[in-house]
Amino acid sequence: MLNFIPLVTNLLISHGSTRNYTGKSLLRHVFFRVFPCASVAIMPFFIRLKQYQGPFGPGMNLLRKSHSPRPTRPDRLPARLFIVLLLSLAASACSQHDSEVYHDQFFAFGTLIDLTLYGVEPAAARQASELIEQDFRTMHGNWHAWEPGALTRLNRQLADRETAIADPSILPLIKEANRLSQLSNGLFNPVIGELISLWGFHDNPLPIGTLPDADTIKQLVAQLPSVEDITIEDNRISSRNPAVRYDLGAFAKGYAIDRAIERLQELGINNAIVNAGGDLRAIGRHGDRPWRIGIRHPREAAILASIEIDGDTSVFTSGDYERFFEIDGTRHHHIIDPRSGYPADRTASVTVIYNNAATADAAATALFVAGPDEWLAIARDMGIGLVMLIDTDGVIHMNPAMRSRIRFEPGMDIDVRLSEPLS
Ligand code: AMP
Ligand code: MG
Repeated sequence: MLNFIPLVTNLLISHGSTRNYTGKSLLRHVFFRVFPCASVAIMPFFIRLKQYQGPFGPGMNLLRKSHSPRPTRPDRLPARLFIVLLLSLAASACSQHDSEVYHDQFFAFGTLIDLTLYGVEPAAARQASELIEQDFRTMHGNWHAWEPGALTRLNRQLADRETAIADPSILPLIKEANRLSQLSNGLFNPVIGELISLWGFHDNPLPIGTLPDADTIKQLVAQLPSVEDITIEDNRISSRNPAVRYDLGAFAKGYAIDRAIERLQELGINNAIVNAGGDLRAIGRHGDRPWRIGIRHPREAAILASIEIDGDTSVFTSGDYERFFEIDGTRHHHIIDPRSGYPADRTASVTVIYNNAATADAAATALFVAGPDEWLAIARDMGIGLVMLIDTDGVIHMNPAMRSRIRFEPGMDIDVRLSEPLS
């Protein structure tokens, strides 16, 4: 199992920031001084700490800021790393101080998966954690958009206009992705894999280079790959459009979290959080109080707001800070508007609260693409009731129900634009 302290130390080292923060003892010492455990019994899982860039996660988003091997704002990196470190260590510290909380972390889907169980006997918790880790690894392998597996096999067959016999590991996922894509009016479009690959987001690490060729983007967009092109009969999948290429990066993490929660519930565990790089689903409570979740600021390494969740709730955020490269000061990020073929450029982040994680994940991506003018209509179509969208001017758009759910951190400079009610 991954030991978090060396991981963080490695990250510091890999970014040349070891000067101030070497050594486990120093890290622990600083943490325990700064965070009394009781106050962080549920850590704010808002900062996405990615070890490498995978198909379902943006990579080390706080740490890797551009195509350039050097961070774009090296002056701020040590501070950011420090915040990541302190906040993430909160959980491991709590597991040492609070015998009711079991905490474990591992990597899958290109991100740090974080499991928190409340009130579970340690041996049972360890066993559950191992099962969950195994499940995540299997799902990651099967659903990868470019490394050989069930999904790449399907993509090859669809490109060759063959009828594919879908692997049972991907059929339900594909069906649900198709359904959500239709509800989102195609803004969440899981079959634009060619476009995403053209932009370089299937490369690991992101290539240093130029923008994709504008004519090629145009041609791909003109082919209009859509889930409407797909026919599914029993386990047979065919496509009438050779441009269709599945990439489930906007949705698979959510789907996987739902499976993990199901697994925990089968094991009789009813108070837990499964968190994949800041996107999470929580069930039950943290003892006698609700779980508290932080939402990160899209432009600062800081918590913007927090929400308390009681019972079964997912919180998903899509952000333009997660995976991107910069050319001549312009940010080119990983969430593509299928209508233009270019990154959706009016949104900085979208947070969706919903009960199941798969829908929350797909919706966060769709509403990001929808942007400040269209998010309300698409949220209605998708049946989403709680949304916060921060546009690239820093204006925070949200529906009234979300406004009453969320608590902004003191001192934040916020400009909120309330929408009509969603339901
Ligand atoms: P998320 O962080 O959940 O918003 O997912 C972003 C990932 O989804 C990207 O890295 C792409 O792999 C994929 N993606 C990008 N744009 C879209 C889109 N419009 N619809 C579906 N998937 C997308
Ligand atoms: Mg998503």
